[in-house]
Amino acid sequence: MQVKANLIGGQWIAGQATQENINPSDTSDVIGVFAQAAAEDVSSAVAAAKEAQAEWAVLDAQSRHDILDRTGNTILARKEELGALLAREEGKILPEAIGETIRAGNVFKFFAGECLRNTGDLVSSVRPGIDIEVTREPVGIVGIITPWNFPIAIPAWKIAPALAYGNTVVCKPADLTPACAHAIAEILMECGLPGGVFNLVMGRGSIVGEAILDHPDITAISFTGSVNTGQHVAEKCLQTMKKVQLEMGGKNPTVVLDDADLEVAVSSCLNSAFFSTGQRCTASSRFIVQEGIHDEFVRRMTEEMSALKIGPALDPNSQMGPVVDERQLVSNLKYVALAKEEGATVIGGERFDGPTTGFYQKPALFTDTHNKMRINQEEIFGPCASVIKVKDFEEAVAVANETEFGLSAGICTQSLKYAAAFKKRAQAGLVMVNLPTAGIDYHVPFGGRKGSSYGPREQGSYAKEFYTIVKTSYVSTG
Ligand code: NAD
Repeated sequence: MQVKANLIGGQWIAGQATQENINPSDTSDVIGVFAQAAAEDVSSAVAAAKEAQAEWAVLDAQSRHDILDRTGNTILARKEELGALLAREEGKILPEAIGETIRAGNVFKFFAGECLRNTGDLVSSVRPGIDIEVTREPVGIVGIITPWNFPIAIPAWKIAPALAYGNTVVCKPADLTPACAHAIAEILMECGLPGGVFNLVMGRGSIVGEAILDHPDITAISFTGSVNTGQHVAEKCLQTMKKVQLEMGGKNPTVVLDDADLEVAVSSCLNSAFFSTGQRCTASSRFIVQEGIHDEFVRRMTEEMSALKIGPALDPNSQMGPVVDERQLVSNLKYVALAKEEGATVIGGERFDGPTTGFYQKPALFTDTHNKMRINQEEIFGPCASVIKVKDFEEAVAVANETEFGLSAGICTQSLKYAAAFKKRAQAGLVMVNLPTAGIDYHVPFGGRKGSSYGPREQGSYAKEFYTIVKTSYVSTG
């Protein structure tokens, strides 16, 4: 199998080590062999990004737009093939994988437009005879570090704005899922991106990630991943005074009030907790259910989740794919065991043998739980959700907010009063009313509060807060 190489300075560089990319639906399927970068490769990538930076920063907006627009169009035109690649490497079912690919294509097209919308302000001075201009410039060389669970969308929503606003990039995708980021790198080159503007260095966080964090010429880091790694990234960035943006975990609540439409509540909660095998930072893992609707909600959820067809990601009958790897599956099973130890009633959650040798787990629902249990405070990141019974809206809001995280929060209700109050009082970056906690548009800001996020928002035109730096110029008109 031909090794998929790192991209450094416009050249495909094989590197000294390699790693196989294994399909979690069928471990006998090797998707590809990928180069593993060393710290010296990161240095070469940064040197290439530095050399390319000045020219890319001043390239006319139309040319930048055209490269990003062509990239978006190519991703969209290849959505079936790239979606299948994504489903094979990450394990989400094909329709979800194609949906994610479409999102990535649209993100590139949105930021192509942003190249043409990079405006500034002309401000009156408080002194006579002076004009003030406030303009935005690229931050420089951006280090991008991404997780495995959205292997095409997350790289896209970081790479596209970085390039649109004139930065050059050194990108390290998750070592579990390098194939989609590698495909983006190939497409960017095909679409005319000058060598060195975008560099891909694949491999382990402890080697490649650390080398990116340590490099003095990288001026900003955009990271998505777990809280522990995120905190480490932030500390490292402070030491070298890098600008930093972190998107991390979630323990997202969905409140279900007595007046909810049960169909809407059950389908929202099913989607939120179990689609993409629960491996979404915006997945809901705490259903906070008012006592009047509680028993019927649990009965219907149990029925619906037991009917979910779990199987290989590319099987058209599958409604939920496998867990991403053995390590994550073992971690999920530990939480299922912990739920029992903590006194919860556990429905489902067992490992099982699928039609192929993969990492298959049934969805788990933990009932009879309270919010202080570890299963309700720690991110599990698998197909596991709890039900917490509450007496009224006030208690529901208090429980929803009683968490160190604050990414997405949902409510199912037919009351305008409670929906409006929840929108105001939920301590979260995203609020969903009668909708799943996951599933977001690509052109509006995305991010959380508290332990879920740090730094400026991602996506939409708000992305410029991170990927640009403001300059205030004073000109004497006398
Ligand atoms: P992770 O923290 O293990 O890894 C994320 C990335 O950091 C990977 O590329 C990894 O190789 C790299 N890394 C690891 N150690 C490093 C180090 N010492 N220095 C530099 N880089 C290092 O996370 P994961 O398991 O890949 O992803 C799952 C997590 O991501 C979950 O917690 C999930 O909630 C979170 N996530 C958050 C969002 C969001 O937008 N909030 C979106 C998706 C996933």
